[in-house]
Amino acid sequence: MSTVRYETPLPKIARIVLDRAERRNAQDTELLYALNDAFDRAAHDEDVAVIVLAAEGPHFSSGHDLREENALAALHDHRTVGTATGFTREGAEGLMAREEEVFLGFSERWRNIPKPTIAEVQGKVISGGLMLVWPCDLIVAAEDAEFIDNVVAMGVNAVEFFNHPYEFGVRKAKELLFTSGALTAREAERIGMVNRVVPRDRLTEATLELAARIAEQPPFALKLAKQSVNAAQDAQGRPDAMRNAFALHQLAHSHNAQVHGVIVEPGFLRRFSRG
Ligand code: ZN
Repeated sequence: MSTVRYETPLPKIARIVLDRAERRNAQDTELLYALNDAFDRAAHDEDVAVIVLAAEGPHFSSGHDLREENALAALHDHRTVGTATGFTREGAEGLMAREEEVFLGFSERWRNIPKPTIAEVQGKVISGGLMLVWPCDLIVAAEDAEFIDNVVAMGVNAVEFFNHPYEFGVRKAKELLFTSGALTAREAERIGMVNRVVPRDRLTEATLELAARIAEQPPFALKLAKQSVNAAQDAQGRPDAMRNAFALHQLAHSHNAQVHGVIVEPGFLRRFSRG
């Protein structure tokens, strides 16, 4: 049973759905590879012009699945998309390789799919959840959507795909990280992180309307427009800033492992297990 569904609700539209609602769409290794396969399928299908990423259930995603066992060994069941290796090696090496592959690698890869992508978002989008939403070109949010990176509470700088300053602006990025606070859908729309906010019961319909409108445009021009905007963002230094934050992220994991014996704050893990 795959935890990702693939639908074609309208001509030229692929809709990829996270289908692990019983775990609030927490991302384990299986789900991430299934999602990557679905993105590849939509990217390679010449009949697909626009890709929607949606999620089953009340919440878009609670983030990375911290309960996954043998997460490092699980990589060996997959043909990796990057060139990182040594996932089961000791110390910082194995973990860094895994996070290069399934977090930074995947999110960057999806950001660069040469077709427009739209995230259709409801409920909570927590930490790793942002790494599925942010790589999409557009975001349509239900009124109940909330965006949170609480990774500082875990003793780490931020999630691995460090797009925060570009999504929130510098000042708001600091506030949200420092407080592990939540951004509502309306606030996210106001600061430009979300394209539009719609009632929860109109979310899918509104997203598909937007997708259908975009799908009428010439596909090559859409691809070039996307690459132009992405290049403008990268010209501001995004790839270097992201590599730097990723290195500091690995330092934080390593520090936690040295001091506490686990890669995130044990106090957070205790609260997480109770919750
Ligand atoms: Zn990490």
